[in-house]
Amino acid sequence: MKFICRAPGKKSIKILERDQKVISPSITREYSFVFSRAKGCNVWDVDGRKYLDFAAAVAVAGVGHSNPEVIKAVKKQIEKGVHCGFSDFYAELPVEFVEQLLAFLPKSMDKAFLSNSGTEAIEAGYKLARWHTKKKYTIAFEGAFHGRTMGSLSMTKSRPVQRERYSPFLPVMHTPYANPYRIGKSSGDCTNICLDSLEKKIKSKKRDIASLFIEPVQGEGGYIVPPKSFVKGVRKLCDENNILLAADEVQSGCYRTGKFLAMENFNVKPDIVCLSKAIGGGVPLGATLASEEIMDWVPGSHANTFGGNLLACAAGIATLKYMRKKKLGENAAKIGKHMMKRLNEIKDKYEIVGDVRGLGLMIGVEIVKNKKTKNHAELERKEILCAAEEKGLILLPAGRSTIRICPPLIITKEQGDLGLDILEDSIDQVSN
Ligand code: PLP
Repeated sequence: MKFICRAPGKKSIKILERDQKVISPSITREYSFVFSRAKGCNVWDVDGRKYLDFAAAVAVAGVGHSNPEVIKAVKKQIEKGVHCGFSDFYAELPVEFVEQLLAFLPKSMDKAFLSNSGTEAIEAGYKLARWHTKKKYTIAFEGAFHGRTMGSLSMTKSRPVQRERYSPFLPVMHTPYANPYRIGKSSGDCTNICLDSLEKKIKSKKRDIASLFIEPVQGEGGYIVPPKSFVKGVRKLCDENNILLAADEVQSGCYRTGKFLAMENFNVKPDIVCLSKAIGGGVPLGATLASEEIMDWVPGSHANTFGGNLLACAAGIATLKYMRKKKLGENAAKIGKHMMKRLNEIKDKYEIVGDVRGLGLMIGVEIVKNKKTKNHAELERKEILCAAEEKGLILLPAGRSTIRICPPLIITKEQGDLGLDILEDSIDQVSN
């Protein structure tokens, strides 16, 4: 068996062999790490090795792994009932969850459709926009990741393999995402180039565009932070052309960037919001939100079996309460600022660190061949990830050669520094 990064321990190897026999090979794994347990910002493998987790189970463990208050809420609910069939019956918990969630969102949001994952939250947003506007087309960005079911996948354009044999897609037009490191001579220039291109796309189908989906910080595509002027310009073009602006906050939401919605960093209000990942404190949960006016679809036009699941809603309520009580947004902003400062110092020291960008605790470190050519250094990125894993730090990649940093939002300054010490050591090792 071929291992990714270092050779794992004996217990891990046994599970990896069983996994290889029965689990679909379509999943991408970055490490041979075999999960045993997790607490707070740490994870342990089945051979007892402890890691600091800068991946947060792919931005899910915002409130930390095995959060005691989420566990308590789930345990309490499991005794009463796990599932009520919310698509056919009524229950208080899903209503309470949505009532509480709405308090975190712009006042224009009145209603939610509940689901179990990011792709379902997006799928619902996509269908809602088409239902409400009765229009056909959608605009999404190059490099976007919105999920893998066919509606979401039609908008996803992150890695070619994700779309390879799945056409025909739904009618989606793609346009460049404002990446100031790679497009234009300055942020302003980047904004102008990308808005021009978007405007041309809009003109080509002017009267038939239902929605535009944007990740306020592009996640899987490389943790790219667009200029404020770009996001504001997108809003303006949507307003001028009667297009619903849908924010994919599946990864960037729930205080990951310091604000509950990443869109708040740009002072832009979306018409539709899609949330998942961190919202359930580790339990599968998705939500699609909009105003009452937009959410005008009729019974039967969209539903599911597991949306409003009682365990998920109990976990969601506990997660929201914990986020507010512990001021996780403030912590994300504070620790993120400290980490960005240190990472910029690291960038100045190493030729292969091309760009450091981020909002709160959604930080990308782009690895390049050298600062002048900015050529992607895929192999070096992989070597850094492996070296860090060897030293006890779990990281993830994003985009072609970016390292993504998305620790639990409960992280302390000391844990942040420890992780960055390991990352710097690993960059140093690969640089030499
Ligand atoms: N949207 C964004 C921005 C994501 O990052 C992801 C997953 O990484 C999704 C949608 C899809 O979520 P899921 O994998 O839960 O379907």
